[in-house]
Amino acid sequence: MPELPEIAAIAQYVAEKAVGTQIRRVDVAALSVLKTFAPGPHDLVGATVTGTDRIGKYFVLWTEKNGDRVALVTHLSRAGWLRWSDKLSPTPLKPGGKSPIALRVHVGPEGEGFDLTEAGTQKRLAVWIVRDPSEIEMVATLGPDALAVSREDFGAILAGSRAQLKTLLRDQRTIAGIGNAYSDEILHTAKLSPFAIAKSLDEAQVDALYAAMHAELDDAVARSVGQHVATLKAEKRSGMKVHGRTGSPCPVCGDTVREVSYADRNFQYCATCQTGGKILADRRMSKLLK
Ligand SMILES: [Zn+2]
Repeated sequence: MPELPEIAAIAQYVAEKAVGTQIRRVDVAALSVLKTFAPGPHDLVGATVTGTDRIGKYFVLWTEKNGDRVALVTHLSRAGWLRWSDKLSPTPLKPGGKSPIALRVHVGPEGEGFDLTEAGTQKRLAVWIVRDPSEIEMVATLGPDALAVSREDFGAILAGSRAQLKTLLRDQRTIAGIGNAYSDEILHTAKLSPFAIAKSLDEAQVDALYAAMHAELDDAVARSVGQHVATLKAEKRSGMKVHGRTGSPCPVCGDTVREVSYADRNFQYCATCQTGGKILADRRMSKLLK
C-alpha cells in the first residue's frame, strides 16, 4: 500500500510530466471507483493540469478550465497504483473487463497519461472529482500530516490516547500519511513496542517516536522523490528493516524479525529492539495456547 513517501513521489513525478498539458480524455473502466457524480470525468476534458498535491495518503491532480478549478483526488488504498505512460493506447477501455485499469487519464499531445490500477480482489481504489478536496469526508477528517505535526502537538495527541502505538500511527484521523509498513519501521527505530499504550509514554519515548517518524519518512521521501513511478515499490521494499522481513535478522541487533498475524493483515517487529525480548501474542499463538 502506498504511503506518504510514495504518494509524495507520485505527486512530484506527475507534476513534472503533466503540468501545463491539457486533459484530452478520461476513460472509466470501473465505474465503482468513482465516488462523485458532478463534476464528472467529462468535465475534466479540455482542462489544463495546473499542479499536484499530496494530502495524507491522497493524491490530488489540480486542473483548470475557464477559470474553474477542479481536482481529481484518488486514494490508492491497499492494492491500487498509478502507472504513468508516455504512450497510452488510444483504444477505449472495456468497462467491466478483467483489466486492473480502473481509470485512464490521457493528458499530453503524444499520448502521455496515467492509469489508476487496482490489483486487489476487493476494489478499494477510490476517485473523487471535486472543486475542493475538503468536500471529501475522509479528507476533511484527516489528522495533522505526519511530516507537518509539531513535537508539541504530537505529544498532546499521544497523551490523550489510550490506543496502542501501532493502531494510533495508522489511524488517518489521528496522524495522516502513515500505513502498515512505515509504522513498523518507525516503531522499530524508536525501539517501542507496537502494543505500547500511547498515553503511557514518557517524554524521552515521545521524543524518540517523533524523531523516528521524521527520520523514516524523510529518508523514504528523499529516496522516492525523483524516481520513476514504476520503481517506487521496489525502492520502498528495499528500505525496510523489519516490515515484510519475518524470519530475517534484525539489521540493528541480529535477532530474528518476528511477525504478529491477524486474519487480514500482519506486521513485523524485533523483540530485542522493541519489547525487551517479549514475544507478542497473535491469533496463531492464542490458538496454540488453547
Ligand atoms: Zn533488533
